[in-house]
Amino acid sequence: MVKAKLIELDKCTECRSCVTACQNQNKNEPHTIGRTKEEIKKAYEESNGADELSHEDWTVISQKDPRDPTRYYKKQCMHCDDPQCVKNCPAHAITKYDNGAVVVDPSKCEGVKLCIEACPFNIPKFDEHKHTVVKCRLCFERITQNPPLDPACVQACPSKAMMFGERDELLDYAKGKYRYIYGGGEGWNSSVIYASNVPIEEVGFTKAEIHGIPDLLRDITHPVGIAMLAGGAGLAALHAMKSRKEEVAKAESK
Ligand code: SF4
Ligand code: SF4
Ligand code: SF4
Repeated sequence: MVKAKLIELDKCTECRSCVTACQNQNKNEPHTIGRTKEEIKKAYEESNGADELSHEDWTVISQKDPRDPTRYYKKQCMHCDDPQCVKNCPAHAITKYDNGAVVVDPSKCEGVKLCIEACPFNIPKFDEHKHTVVKCRLCFERITQNPPLDPACVQACPSKAMMFGERDELLDYAKGKYRYIYGGGEGWNSSVIYASNVPIEEVGFTKAEIHGIPDLLRDITHPVGIAMLAGGAGLAALHAMKSRKEEVAKAESK
């Protein structure tokens, strides 16, 4: 059965417990690697108010206008049914699972970054230290363990603004309670569903442009792209590129 996370925007108090829970769950101890004590302190203070995703912040409270405290929403990967990130990854490093989750395998990511270009919601970010694209994993390990756990952010929300469960059931619940729904088949096919009694755009959410989403991998015409399309040989070249990148990064850090 396809699972989903329902985010009831009207219940969210902007407390950011979900942001901290996500960082803890994914061991994204924020903003420490290779930085001075002063830089860490400054970055930590900034991270409390971070309103854009980064390699350390896989979910944030995004504010449409910092001067208007009433317009915000929890931003994260939509876990699309037809994910452009998956379609555009030449290394097959991103998988769409039957339960709905779209998950990056860091050991396969070649750092090509086409997924970043292709995502209609501007979600994936590149972690320069780990040399991989990162994004919300829908807490894949938690939701597939036996017995399953809710995603960490859902569990941490003191306002119970999120629910995780069967997508159809969550959608029925949302339709009975809210005027505006986005995701889960309403306006977008995904395993994240936003529900609100004000139009979703009014809290700052930018809906995907359904038409004209690029299939970047298909459209690549430059030599590296052709190498990618050549399959094994292309991937071998990408492996070599990645190894070279890692050598350079190691040399620079010495
Ligand atoms: S929102 Fe972007 S990163 Fe997430 S599944 Fe969809 S295309 Fe991929
Ligand atoms: S589902 Fe997990 S990875 Fe995704 S935002 Fe919530 S805590 Fe982070
Ligand atoms: S923990 Fe819940 S109430 Fe707090 S910011 Fe996240 S979604 Fe909103």
